Amino acid sequence: MTPHGAQPPGSVGHLFTKSRRFDVVVPPTNTSDTDAVGPDDGGPAGPTTRRQTALLIVGAGPAGTAAAIHARRAGVDCIVIDKAVFPRDKCCGDGLTTLALRELEALGCDPDTVPNWMNVEGAWLRTPAGHEFGIPLPPDGVYAAVAPRIDLDAALVDQARAAGTEIIEGVAVTGVELHDTHVDVSCDNGMIIEATTVIAADGMWSPIRRALGLTPEGYRGEWHAFRQYARNVTGPAAQQLIVWFEPDLLPGYAWSFPLPGGRANVGFGMLRNDGLTGKMLAAKWRELCERDHVRTALGPDAQWEGRHTAWPIPARVDEMALSHGRVLFVGDAAAATDVMTGEGIGQALLTGRLAAEAVSTGGDIAAAYTRAVRNELFADHRMARRLGRVLASRRGAETALGVVRHSGDWGRRHFARWMFEDEPRAIVLTPRRWHRGFLARPGAYRERVTTSAP
Ligand SMILES: Cc1cc2nc3c(=O)[nH]c(=O)nc-3n(C[C@H](O)[C@H](O)[C@H](O)COP(=O)(O)OP(=O)(O)OC[C@H]3O[C@@H](n4cnc5c(N)ncnc54)[C@H](O)[C@@H]3O)c2cc1C
Repeated sequence: MTPHGAQPPGSVGHLFTKSRRFDVVVPPTNTSDTDAVGPDDGGPAGPTTRRQTALLIVGAGPAGTAAAIHARRAGVDCIVIDKAVFPRDKCCGDGLTTLALRELEALGCDPDTVPNWMNVEGAWLRTPAGHEFGIPLPPDGVYAAVAPRIDLDAALVDQARAAGTEIIEGVAVTGVELHDTHVDVSCDNGMIIEATTVIAADGMWSPIRRALGLTPEGYRGEWHAFRQYARNVTGPAAQQLIVWFEPDLLPGYAWSFPLPGGRANVGFGMLRNDGLTGKMLAAKWRELCERDHVRTALGPDAQWEGRHTAWPIPARVDEMALSHGRVLFVGDAAAATDVMTGEGIGQALLTGRLAAEAVSTGGDIAAAYTRAVRNELFADHRMARRLGRVLASRRGAETALGVVRHSGDWGRRHFARWMFEDEPRAIVLTPRRWHRGFLARPGAYRERVTTSAP
């Protein structure tokens, strides 16, 4: 049996994405390249052009651009392709943890190139019983920030392009053919790109993973989350990053993340269960926005911008395929988000880097990448899943947050560092990752960003 009914060699699978047919053809492993079969019908209109590259990255979100920048730095030729044209929005809370910030800094991402970037100096928490308290972050560097994805992702695309990556925008990948020596990827403009290795950074629904038969039947993510921007925010939410542990959302939560100019990213996430429908979630969102503490935090003049958007969050990195033949999966395509918080930008940047490192090192790329992700994320994922179970009950959440609330300045500060992924979740249980500066490292961008945006 292949995992999740993955396409065995010699088989031809046909799958549908939301709007278009997606073909996958997997010739037998001993088939020569010339025997490979292309999409049989429903193929793209327009002339077929063929391109060749050492590395093709599908998806130009944080996972794809991180992979591209690191790969180019190591001298690997690569093409990035995305169906969107940048700047494009992505439904997200826009929160950057210390993990994400350290990865961005290592990438050479300059916060000054990201409009509306805002540093955050701590968080304000509300327990299910309504107790509120602050958890401060250390002042030596940036441990948390908020950056709208429309700005962050476009800046990363620009940076990847400046690093020498060819970025093809507005072209969707529609088919994959696996061969012994390469992968043929077909696109909706008629182009076929022949790549030695493919990194699938194509997000939660990962058309490539799906086409290869690696997406579990009926999979719709672990979390479902809503987000809407607010303007004219004059209450505490204009400056503070707020997390509300609402009794009816546990182990999920609602948030308000501040942005410059009196704006905020407001939303909530809930664990998906079978009884939860889109209608119920939309009703919950409307009702949540009317809660007194939410309205007070936003202030009397706050107005909603545009419509709310909703998107699933995948969080099962230890069960999802990380590679298949010459294809590596990164970021949401590898279901790599933190199962306790739903944060995935840091994990997307990290897995993108690990994939690029495996490609540039050579040898058994798939084995090296899988091993690296296992070492970096599996223990943390399991720890986060256990902690999530504690937060699932009102009593468990109240007790856990009560311990933090009464722990004094030192305890709260260290909890804040842990919450914002200054160290891996399961660092205590994984001695191989211990280092001298445990919970004492400065934050990211220590030299370059020291104050909040106005
Ligand atoms: C409401 C919500 C709030 C969140 N809040 C946070 C938060 O505050 N902090 C945090 O760290 N994480 C948060 N997350 C999670 C975070 O958004 C994701 O983990 C992150 O975007 C993953 O990045 P990625 O690069 O893997 O995928 P994406 O950012 O989804 O990028 C995938 C790219 O692939 C492209 N693509 C897809 N199909 C094709 C195709 N067929 N051909 C070509 N291109 C294709 C898409 O256009 C897209 O650009 C949140 C998620 C949600 C839903």
